[in-house]
Amino acid sequence: RAKKAKGCGYQFFSEELNHQAVDRLHKEMKLRNALTDNELELYYQPKVHLDTGKVMGVEALVRWHDPENGMIPPGEFIPLAEETGLILPMSEWILEQACYQVVSWQQSLSMPLKMAVNLSVRQFQDPLFVQNVADILRKTGVNPALIELEITESMLMENMDTVLPMLDELKQLGVSLAIDDFGTGYSSLAYLKKMPIDVLKVDRAFVQDLPHDQNDCAITRAVILMAQQLGLNVVAEGIEDLTQAEFLTDNGCQLGQGFYFSRPLRLDDLESLLADSGLLAAGSAGQSGHMG
Ligand code: C2E
Ligand code: MG
Ligand code: MG
Ligand code: MG
Repeated sequence: RAKKAKGCGYQFFSEELNHQAVDRLHKEMKLRNALTDNELELYYQPKVHLDTGKVMGVEALVRWHDPENGMIPPGEFIPLAEETGLILPMSEWILEQACYQVVSWQQSLSMPLKMAVNLSVRQFQDPLFVQNVADILRKTGVNPALIELEITESMLMENMDTVLPMLDELKQLGVSLAIDDFGTGYSSLAYLKKMPIDVLKVDRAFVQDLPHDQNDCAITRAVILMAQQLGLNVVAEGIEDLTQAEFLTDNGCQLGQGFYFSRPLRLDDLESLLADSGLLAAGSAGQSGHMG
């Protein structure tokens, strides 16, 4: 293990570091390189109209192709990226990439697709965050109305005082805002009313046992009703079968995502799907690759 750190100036100290610390340093170095070496890739999961299956938008989900260990899901590297601060340059790359993709689709798609991008709690601790978003929107020339930023409910609730004013500023840039993983973060209804939010995304945990679990049925119904009362759109996450989709549509939820409709896809595969559903002119698939 000490040998792994060879050439990085750590040899002398490595005997005092335990395995975990060295391992972590190694991971951190690799993650740092992931950005500069182009090892990150955006996958896109379709967001569909539940009745028709028609694609209404996509959510960008980052993946890391680690040359040593293959593809690593975000749950395994976002926490480290957040601890080290790497999440800030990483998130800028993600947003920029997503915006360029939308711009490219503005030429090739017969109907505009909305792009949802996940935010990290760390971005709200960065005083330059809103300015950075504004810069990326301007630089890419994207129509901000096609960008939806997702904030988890827990991020919001734990940092209400700093996050709320920033949400107002983000809204003024013309983007829309969604609360992700809704139902897991104990938000108070009073706060929800005060927030400049457009969309509630019902957490997968409530969807997975529909329509069998009576509690989950009740909770999901209540969230859908509440969203309607507050004038918000509601999107169900993690739909894996037809009975879940039917329960949701029967109860007034129009939009959803999940493996039943599509897994998160590489750009090529998404564009094939869009071509198959007539949204993308045949022959355009694969030609609107990543820019920047
Ligand atoms: P999320 O934003 O709630 O994304 C939904 C997650 O659920 C994705 O996992 C997706 O692949 C998965 N999923 C979608 N449909 C189904 C389904 O039917 N069944 C099951 N079992 N899972 C489903 P993924 O891509 O591993 O992302 C996990 C989390 O990592 C995301 O949760 C989000 O919080 C975070 N994340 C992903 N990409 C980014 C990013 O670009 N930036 C930031 N800051 N966080 C990200
Ligand atoms: Mg999300
Ligand atoms: Mg979610
Ligand atoms: Mg989640």
